[in-house]
Amino acid sequence: MSARWLSAYESDLPRIVSDLEALVRLESPSDDAERVTAVAHWIHDRLRERGVPAELRPCPPRGDAVLASVAYREGGTLLLGHLDTVWPAGTLAEMPWRLDAGRASGPGVFDMKAGIAVGMAVLGAMLRESRAQPISLLLVPDEEVGSEASRELTVSVARRHRRVLVLEPSQDGAAKVARKGCGVFHVRFRGRAAHAGLEPEKGASALVELSRFVSFLDGLAAPERGTTLTATVARAGSVSNVVPEAAELTVDARAWSRAEAERVTAGIGGYRPTVEGVSFGLEGGFDRPPLEPTTACNELYALARRLAEDLGFELGAARVGGASDGNFVAAAGIPTLDGLGPRGGGAHARDEHVLVADLPVRAALVAALVSEP
Ligand SMILES: [Zn+2]
Repeated sequence: MSARWLSAYESDLPRIVSDLEALVRLESPSDDAERVTAVAHWIHDRLRERGVPAELRPCPPRGDAVLASVAYREGGTLLLGHLDTVWPAGTLAEMPWRLDAGRASGPGVFDMKAGIAVGMAVLGAMLRESRAQPISLLLVPDEEVGSEASRELTVSVARRHRRVLVLEPSQDGAAKVARKGCGVFHVRFRGRAAHAGLEPEKGASALVELSRFVSFLDGLAAPERGTTLTATVARAGSVSNVVPEAAELTVDARAWSRAEAERVTAGIGGYRPTVEGVSFGLEGGFDRPPLEPTTACNELYALARRLAEDLGFELGAARVGGASDGNFVAAAGIPTLDGLGPRGGGAHARDEHVLVADLPVRAALVAALVSEP
């Protein structure tokens, strides 16, 4: 069965590659709603030309999302992905689309325009199946910047499906079965300014308090369990001879489990300054819950692994620190398997590329998964 899919997608490869080229040439930085929407329109129009029902869903203030379905009824499979990339407009001039030695390269090719091209191919093929299982494809405009504008849409669409396959890049070919939850905390300290020479004792240093807070974070983190708290941006003080009145700090927080995310959130929230006269303010928190594999997630992975074997390859399982929209849908209780996009490398890096020969293989795997009742 899987082998039949593979030969079909191998014949379809020229079109998959030309779709991929068009997608890479349409640059789509997250902060440019117009460009992201242009990609949404391009996909929407191609799918409709090919007979796949598709619609656009505005996600203000970001761009449009695309939602397409074949044989739609509740309880099908949802393919999930994103239209935006981390590359600013104009990157294509320095990092052009290239097809060379079995690799396709260009901005966003791996994360995740190759996944989009695969999703489009699978929908097209399902249309030609007489007994196609219901399948939908949702592509959102703002995943790289936290999916605030699309999160509700993603979860509400996902709830009408019985499983979600995320077409984000694979990890050296492996599926992503667990992802850390992540968040950003913004911490502000307010003390009292004083002349550093005349009467420093009258000051209350927000900077000294900030440094104590950074040490406190070290105690709260549990890197052996994968719970990391990384102080990333700090600002304090005004001029060289004044005790700093204000200081602020940004903290990147990540954890494998919801329990750890809650422990860290409570810990930071309960912090009490020890420099007398310094107050403490807090904003932010975990905005993506961890993708913690449930039994249903593990079963979905086991199924994918078996189908991959039929296609002649071993589908590994990776646990990764970065989050995706898979985190939201898994946390909503929907069986999810992430990282089903093609092999490649250099996500968010100058050598970003995908292996062209893997495009039909991944499409065949996704089609085989979708066809499992
Ligand atoms: Zn991505």
